Amino acid sequence: MSDAAHSPTVREALAAAAALGLDRVDAQALLGHALGGKPRAWLIAHDTDPLPPEAAAAFDGACRQRADGVPVAYLLGEREFHGLVLRVTPDVLVPRPDTETLVDWALELLPGLGAAPRVLDLGTGSGAIALAVAHRHAAAQVQATDLSAAALAVARANAQRLGLAVAFAEGAWWQAVPATATYTLVLSNPPYIAGGDPHLPALRHEPTLALTPGGDGLDAYRAIVAGAPAHLVPGGWLLFEHGFDQAEAVAALLREAGFTDIATRCDIAQRPRCTGGRWPA
Ligand code: GLN
Repeated sequence: MSDAAHSPTVREALAAAAALGLDRVDAQALLGHALGGKPRAWLIAHDTDPLPPEAAAAFDGACRQRADGVPVAYLLGEREFHGLVLRVTPDVLVPRPDTETLVDWALELLPGLGAAPRVLDLGTGSGAIALAVAHRHAAAQVQATDLSAAALAVARANAQRLGLAVAFAEGAWWQAVPATATYTLVLSNPPYIAGGDPHLPALRHEPTLALTPGGDGLDAYRAIVAGAPAHLVPGGWLLFEHGFDQAEAVAALLREAGFTDIATRCDIAQRPRCTGGRWPA
């Protein structure tokens, strides 16, 4: 895209990105980033400006990675989620808008769950769910776990940078919290893609641990549901995110374990995306 003799203009650089197959808005975000944080409006107003050679080289490299399937969020180093800007690295799943459905459900329940509800986010990744709840319901005492120490480092850094009080613990699902700990509201967006799912290759740049438990994709729900009765207060809630075709299976697991008030909510694309239930009072 650039050589010593000719540094491309903004317009030429974006045309080269399009030729590599990049989405235009993605390309604009990457070019703005390569230029030190220029907004799209600046790019549009300066489309005949030649790029500084370092910016041209950085943009070229980012475009090639994007064309290879690297998520834009990793290339920018951040992603907006539920009104918070989160730092993300390849150690964590990129937060998705679908998951805002889970946060919104939690925020609707929390005012009815007492003065200082104890909230747990199992498998927090970047910290997205836990941090969004802590941000929007300041009275909640929020804890979050992850099996990955590298993910927890990202989540902790996000909490610190945003000034949000979340307590983090490392371990597999309930093993990360004390055996006697109880919670008012437990949230989880666990790995749920089935082992042989044809979508997995397209997600190869994200941590496999965060995407798939292998098998039929339901093992994380089985583990979390199995441990939930010991860790929920009477009347407490367990809410999950799941795949678009897993609502009935997750509801069945909750029902068989004795949960009541089982319900499913759809994501912004109107696909069934979250299912939860209440531990009987
Ligand atoms: N929602 C992600 C996807 O399908 C999967 C996240 C997960 O497994 N928790 O791209």
